[in-house]
Amino acid sequence: MANECLFCRIVKKEIPASIVAENGHCIAFRDINPQAPTHILVIPRQHVASLNEAKDPAVIAQMHQMAVQLAKAEGLSERGYRTVINTNADGGQTVFHIHLHLLGGRHMTWPPG
Ligand code: AMP
Ligand code: ZN
Repeated sequence: MANECLFCRIVKKEIPASIVAENGHCIAFRDINPQAPTHILVIPRQHVASLNEAKDPAVIAQMHQMAVQLAKAEGLSERGYRTVINTNADGGQTVFHIHLHLLGGRHMTWPPG
């Protein structure tokens, strides 16, 4: 766990966040700058900098599993939603603790910007 990592500090409850779900593997909280009516970030409790460093496939599965549960809880399952992991500079990653964006509640365009 990186002491200076913003999302590790949210895991440790040192920084407040609007937490919507927690289990032994992951925490989910509302994005501070939402890009859709529902915009939730799902992160692993353990520090993993990006998808490049995610050596354990279970971490990726656990993040997606929580996102699917939250999509259902938010009433998005039928109409649809988008899940995104941004990686490094070209991917638009700004926080280097891996996170899965769950976006929904409006129609998403393609290709993304
Ligand atoms: P990314 O650009 O994929 O690295 O996504 C980082 C996301 O974290 C952005 O959507 C930010 O709005 C969000 N974010 C940054 N700081 C916080 C915070 N303290 N609480 C909730 N979301 C945050
Ligand atoms: Zn971290």
